Order: sequence, then structure tokens, then C-alpha cells
Amino acid sequence: MRLILLGPPGAGKGTQAKRLKEKFNIPQVSTGDILRDAIKDKTELGNKAKEYMDEGRLVPDDIVVGLIKQRIVESDCKKGFILDGFPRNMAQAVQLSETLEKMSQNIDSVVEIEVNAKMLIDRLTGRMTCSSCGAMFHEKNHPPKVSGICDSCGSNDLYKRPDDNKETIMKRFEVYEQETAPLKGFYRKMGILKTTGGDGTLDDVFSRVCGLVT
Ligand code: ADP
Ligand code: ZN
Repeated sequence: MRLILLGPPGAGKGTQAKRLKEKFNIPQVSTGDILRDAIKDKTELGNKAKEYMDEGRLVPDDIVVGLIKQRIVESDCKKGFILDGFPRNMAQAVQLSETLEKMSQNIDSVVEIEVNAKMLIDRLTGRMTCSSCGAMFHEKNHPPKVSGICDSCGSNDLYKRPDDNKETIMKRFEVYEQETAPLKGFYRKMGILKTTGGDGTLDDVFSRVCGLVT
């Protein structure tokens, strides 16, 4: 099964992708995570990407498309994958389609998670991630049981993403509306767009998403 998760920053794509990965035993391919790892490792790619990410702008297409092309030919992607944060504009979507066509593959479903703007800002400004295992928390809505300690793995390294500040969040929304939202029409025409609300508990959203893709 090959899936794309589509939705504005904070819609819960990453969280749902992690659950889908467990359920269907296929990898989550997140361009945001790949880029953040490169920044952490201080690679040339990371240094370049950081300038864009800190401002909430898209990293250039040649970089992210290159990353995706490399990633989806790895052996763990043979059974399928969940794309989270890619494609993010028309050029990326077209290049993805071309790449998959050459591999005689196709996307089964594009799941759009819809959330209202007010909720998104609240979610993003309070978001914390465990740097060891990737578990996600929220200062108010879903704090760790012991402050500063990850419930899942016990690490004390919970961090706030540098782009989760109000100014950069507003820029990311704007980029989403202008560049990413048009992909809905693109995939609707292909007959594979499926939309669900991102409201309710994580379990609610997950069961709706599963209902759409199976
Ligand atoms: P969110 O969806 O919450 O904004 P992501 O982790 O998906 O978070 O993306 C964070 C940042 O990484 C983006 O603002 C952008 O700068 C960069 N990025 C991630 N994926 C892409 C992509 N497909 N194309 C260009 N830039 C990307
Ligand atoms: Zn952890």
C-alpha cells in the first residue's frame, strides 16, 4: 500500500503516519524528519535546508525530490510506504508521479486531514517531540506523565521544533495554502483523494483514516 498524507502543519500527519506504519508494517517517509536529521548531523544538505526551514519556506524541489527518489527504492519500501510532508507543491507531485510510473508503481490513496486554523496554532505552539524515539507530546493537551521525560522511552531530551513559533507557523500556513492545497485538486482528478476531519482524539482520527484506506 502506498499512501500520501496531506494536510496543513499541525494536522497530525506525523502522528497518524506513525500509527499507520505500525498497523500496515510499511515505513513512514517524512521529508521533514529526513531534513531535521540532516540538520542534526550537520551535513551539507542539513545546513542548506536549515535556512529554509527556519523561515517556514519550502526547501528547493531538487533537494527533496532527490531525497525521496533515493528513499523509495530502498528495500523496506517494496511493500509500500507512507509519505508524510511530501509532495508539497505541484512540481513535486508531478515528479513523484513520473518516478512511480517508471517503477510501475502508483499511489493508492491520498488522505487529506482537515483541521481549522485556530486548533492548528494551539497544537503547534505547544508541541514537543522526543529526540530519541520521536514520540510526540503537547504542553497542555498531552503532557508527559513526568515533566520533561518521554513516556515511551524514558529519554529526558524532549524538544520544541525551532519552526514551531508563531511567526514561522503563520508563514508555513501561507505556504500550505498557496503551494500545497492545490494538490487536492490534482489527486481528486486522479480519483484517489480521501478527506477526513482531524478533530477528535488521535484514536478517532486513526480509525477514520484506516476506514478510508482499507
Ligand atoms: P509541518 O507539516 O508541521 O510544517 P514538516 O516536518 O513536514 O512539518 O516540515 C517542516 C519544514 O521542512 C517545512 O516547513 C519545509 O521547510 C521543510 N520541508 C518538509 N518537507 C518538504 C517538502 N516536501 N518540500 C519542501 N520543503 C519541505
Ligand atoms: Zn522517547
